Amino acid sequence: MLVVMKFGGTSVGSAERISMAAALAAKQVAEGNKVVVVTSAMSGVTNHLINAATSAAQGNWNSEERKTLDERHRSTAHALLGGHPELLERVQSSIVEHLDRFEKLCFGLSMIHELSPRLLDAISATGELLAAPILAGAITASGVRSVAIPSTKLIVTNDQFGAAEPLDEETRKLTRDELMSLLDDGAIPVVTGFIGATSEGVMTTLGRGGSDYSASILASALDADEVWIWTDVDGVLTANPAEVPEARTLREISYSEASELAYYGAKVLHHKTILPAVKRKIPVRILNSFHPEQTGTRISVEGRPSSRGVKAVTSIRNVSLITIAGRGMQGIPGIAAKTFASVAAEKANVLMISQASSENNICLVVNSSEAKRVVRALRHSLELELMLGHIDEITSDDSIAVVAAVGDRMKGTPGIAGKVFSSMGAAGVNVIAISQGSSERNISLIVAGEDAVTAVRAIHRVFELEKPAQP
Ligand code: ADP
Ligand code: ASP
Ligand code: MG
Repeated sequence: MLVVMKFGGTSVGSAERISMAAALAAKQVAEGNKVVVVTSAMSGVTNHLINAATSAAQGNWNSEERKTLDERHRSTAHALLGGHPELLERVQSSIVEHLDRFEKLCFGLSMIHELSPRLLDAISATGELLAAPILAGAITASGVRSVAIPSTKLIVTNDQFGAAEPLDEETRKLTRDELMSLLDDGAIPVVTGFIGATSEGVMTTLGRGGSDYSASILASALDADEVWIWTDVDGVLTANPAEVPEARTLREISYSEASELAYYGAKVLHHKTILPAVKRKIPVRILNSFHPEQTGTRISVEGRPSSRGVKAVTSIRNVSLITIAGRGMQGIPGIAAKTFASVAAEKANVLMISQASSENNICLVVNSSEAKRVVRALRHSLELELMLGHIDEITSDDSIAVVAAVGDRMKGTPGIAGKVFSSMGAAGVNVIAISQGSSERNISLIVAGEDAVTAVRAIHRVFELEKPAQP
């Protein structure tokens, strides 16, 4: 069996955690499997890099930023490889190389005062580049040959910096050329997550949390048998455990349920992870590196439907509600079409669309980082309607959250929307808008940001998600 094993930030957050990750990978090789490891940056490092870049762009660069990263990675490498001077030496020089590059980029930024998405990608990728040689060193020290490989050599993407998309054929060819012979030799390649490069070799990133996506991109390129995502919870839970302490681990969910949950805020999985896996029907498991004996969550085609309809509930913040409002909209054809065409042209992610039956307004929800751009585009494309008074105003409100109830069996199970609504009434939560995806796998609600946790808990309770489901 060929397994792609991805370790998240907390799973490589210290020498102790890295040694556990190395042991988990080596164990699979000892059992006769082929393993590709994908690593995230050590926990907190990507945030640190992004903050350093942002303040450098404001003219504030100081060498403490480098020192903090240097000490953390150097001491981790030392703790793991102290008894292997040759390995340690190699890792230390790779730390110097990547931190030199980081420092030069930040220094340049502090002079030009402009942080482009392209430069931000080049800087935020440093965490994975630092982590991979340490983990590969730890695996080699445990007795299995391992090589760190930057994914810029494997994953070819377009140039959408900050949310780059892989180019399948090019990626497949490079990945197979680079990794197959290592795997045939029983070695473990440790690939940097999160990062890709354009066909011209310019570094890109796949978006925050994107190492999960890297793992499934590589699994698809290699026709792997499984993808294992090692994280700090027991799997995909019925809700974010930080919001709902009684949330329960789901044994099995479908690809579509996993996609909807990730898209609507379940951070445990990057929302694009499922796409490459679905194409080749590769099962994905979410496992806890702190409790590897737990079975975790299996994500597959069927996903063991639950008779309750709803399987899990999520919430997403940092989103904005854009409203196009006007009494004159009634009966005027084409406003909705123009709206969606202009949002699509902006390549904005639309989380939710809702049009009141009175036709007095159209609401859509986008990520707050994209809201300004979308409003500007809408004002431009609906200029005529605004001038004629068919539309009164186009506004954006970022004080909201979206709460989503998800489950494949919602389709055809009557009464779910009613149950969701009565639970909102009972909890005293005002629902600003509602939408049911055409797939009927999801009911999503817009609520005030401060009501989101109350709403999530109310839905969790009314569907008794804390109790094991009947199939
Ligand atoms: P990693 O660093 O391993 O990629 P992340 O922090 O990206 O881990 O994702 C794991 C976290 O996702 C959990 O610690 C948990 O707080 C959060 N989370 C949010 N919703 C869910 C959910 N439905 N199930 C499991 N975890 C969730
Ligand atoms: N290190 C990156 C991030 O923090 C990618 C990841 O962890 O998946 O966003
Ligand atoms: Mg993650």
